[in-house]
Amino acid sequence: MAFEGLADRLQSTIQKIKGKGKVTEQDVKEMTREVRLALLEADVNFKVVKDFVKRVKERAVGQEVMESLTPGQQVIKVVKEELTSLMGGEQSKIAVADRSPTVIMMVGLQGAGKTTTTGKLANLLRKKYNRKPLLVAADIYRPAAIKQLETLGSQLGMPVFSLGTEVSPVEIANKAIEQAKAEHNDYVIIDTAGRLHVDTDLMDELQQIKTNVNPNEIFLVVDAMTGQDAVNVAESFNEQLDISGVVLTKLDGDTRGGAALSIKAVTDKPIKFAGMGEKLDELEAFHPERMASRILGMGDVLSLIEKAQDNVDEKKAKELEQKMRSASFTFDDFLEQMGQVKNMGPLEDLIGMLPGANKMKGLKNVQFDEKQISHVEAIIQSMTKKERQDPSLMNASRKKRIAKGSGRSVSEVNRLLKQFEDMKKMMKQMTNMQGGKKGKKGKG
Ligand code: GDP
Repeated sequence: MAFEGLADRLQSTIQKIKGKGKVTEQDVKEMTREVRLALLEADVNFKVVKDFVKRVKERAVGQEVMESLTPGQQVIKVVKEELTSLMGGEQSKIAVADRSPTVIMMVGLQGAGKTTTTGKLANLLRKKYNRKPLLVAADIYRPAAIKQLETLGSQLGMPVFSLGTEVSPVEIANKAIEQAKAEHNDYVIIDTAGRLHVDTDLMDELQQIKTNVNPNEIFLVVDAMTGQDAVNVAESFNEQLDISGVVLTKLDGDTRGGAALSIKAVTDKPIKFAGMGEKLDELEAFHPERMASRILGMGDVLSLIEKAQDNVDEKKAKELEQKMRSASFTFDDFLEQMGQVKNMGPLEDLIGMLPGANKMKGLKNVQFDEKQISHVEAIIQSMTKKERQDPSLMNASRKKRIAKGSGRSVSEVNRLLKQFEDMKKMMKQMTNMQGGKKGKKGKG
């Protein structure tokens, strides 16, 4: 998981100060010292760390007293707010041109994920905003890059504009915009050439495209795994092109976090999107506050809810909830629920969004084996309809038959039956508790 080391260190630091009824200057000093080390170790830019710590210190020592929070909690609030503002504060939106089409130029070094992100962005614009993008292959130096974009286009069922490798990128861009107007494409996303390093030829070419097409956005794609290099790349692209935002890719890897935490402070340009995997639907809007919350172990319940809304049928979810409450939940429901959760992506990612998940001992080491889930599915699928509705029918011979049918052992079948019963019991208890003591929980 990205940010893991940083999250661990910051969380254990804030844990120490959390419950304090009185926070002395010495406490703040110790905490900020640890925060400083944690950030440096996460490869955050040196100067950014210095400024960050200074601000936290000033605010934490001179803070006003708020009645609703303990002094310890208040210090944590300061850390969270500063972390959020370090990553850009508000989430920043994508531009919409007054007159269609909106033109987006994608720039970046080779291998950062520019072409993939071009496809992902087009996919997101269509899925979330109902837009009709045109993809433009303007990397005339690498025929493979044109091919790659064409492949992405056909996977997405979206048009790709290309004039091969003989026409200048400026002309390609201009012609593409003309075509977009004629075909009513409301976004034009131009995949420009990359290089292994920043060089003047590349910058000249990008500047020419920029001057000619006057794009609404210039997104720089950088690889989060490259840490401070990504920050340096962002700095030089920004100096020469005045980019409008950054897309940080490969945040699904185990990046330490340096790039995410330094780019905004160094370039003053926001991170607009984050690449969370190789697949075309793995691009997310970057939310600084949610990210800060995740890093501090407060969870990211909002993203979890959004993921659920995108992937779970709301009506079915309501029905399931009803069944859970009335304890009439069957194995069929269980199967369906598992299917919906599976749609939301890898379980580990989902768990990572829960508050405190980082701290739960053991949880971190549990490998969420997707295979286990398919075993459970196989067992349930080998039950008859009656058995799924009424597990009390189960006897030794039925269990044996189910084990055989699913290719699992009888003890696995037993374990699942037991888990299911336990779950039902727990649901009953929870329902009773909610009914009985509503609103009585005073402390938060
Ligand atoms: P370009 O040279 O900048 O156009 O880079 P590509 O789009 O060809 O991507 C380079 C490699 O990075 C490919 O293997 C992509 O699948 C991979 N990649 C791109 N974005 C992500 C991401 O967010 N996560 C992961 N894990 N891989 C990514």
